[in-house]
Amino acid sequence: MTAYHATVLRTAHVTPRMLRVTLVGDELKSYQGSGLPDESCRVVFPGDGEPRRVYTIRRRDAETGQIDLDFVLHDGGVAAEWARAAQPGDPVLLSGSPAGKYAPPPDTEWQLLAGDATALPALGRIAENLAPGARAHALCVIEDDADRQPLPGVTVDWITADPSQAGPRLTAAVLAHDLPPGPGYLWVAGEMSATRDVRKHLRHALGLPADRYSVVGYWRHNAEEWEARFRAVEPDLAPRLAAAEDIPDDEEYFDVVDDIHAEAGL
Ligand SMILES: Cc1cc2nc3c(=O)[nH]c(=O)nc-3n(C[C@H](O)[C@H](O)[C@H](O)COP(=O)(O)OP(=O)(O)OC[C@H]3O[C@@H](n4cnc5c(N)ncnc54)[C@H](O)[C@@H]3O)c2cc1C
Repeated sequence: MTAYHATVLRTAHVTPRMLRVTLVGDELKSYQGSGLPDESCRVVFPGDGEPRRVYTIRRRDAETGQIDLDFVLHDGGVAAEWARAAQPGDPVLLSGSPAGKYAPPPDTEWQLLAGDATALPALGRIAENLAPGARAHALCVIEDDADRQPLPGVTVDWITADPSQAGPRLTAAVLAHDLPPGPGYLWVAGEMSATRDVRKHLRHALGLPADRYSVVGYWRHNAEEWEARFRAVEPDLAPRLAAAEDIPDDEEYFDVVDDIHAEAGL
């Protein structure tokens, strides 16, 4: 993994709860990403222990050495607080990897794109890069109508919910949506209870093969409480979780880990 030094060039609100931070740096001119529209990087923030969080690369320009990251301004959190206070010249480190999961198979006739506010940067880039004539529908869970963003070429159901309900609302929206006939592709990202339940539904209830969907957990509601409960049972779960690491197939791995967590009430 390569590390890139950058500084804040400017900040601007995309919507009241989404702040775009434009980073600049000579090292960003040679940023090695995947080029996929949902590619992300690890952002290392200055401070005790150099906390790091994962953010989608909303735009990158090799010529000017600029990268845009869009931050959801939720309550608490090192990253959200850093973005709120960001000033031109503030330093930050990006560690890049060829991340990103968006990969519709070539015969895809329709796409369902679903997520909460954290997925909007990727959804925006996916929309801008859709092939001409592509048929895509989005289900977006946002806090209120002011959080809407343009998604060119995509029909959108905007669903408003308090962030504490984003997971259940996202799950309900995807499960209630009638998928069109013919070969399609689903891209789903957001709160982890939703991505766990949606992945299970697509794989087990609908029996979709793994190349027909990409489902990625972006954040966890009440993360501190979940982590405390995890730490309490970690010694019991550790051997099974370690054994799961040997499972070569990603989807089988997620099945096993989800089951271990569910049995432990996590
Ligand atoms: C591949 C990938 C791409 C991502 N892209 C983006 C992106 O482009 N923009 C973006 O904003 N996020 C994105 N995320 C999600 C982001 O990494 C998390 O939201 C992260 O937890 C934010 O860090 P923090 O320091 O602000 O909060 P943390 O320190 O992680 O958490 C502090 C508290 O805030 C809560 N919390 C965390 N995130 C949210 C949220 N979004 N809404 C409400 N409460 C929250 C936690 O439950 C916890 O209680 C992405 C995640 C992944 C894995």
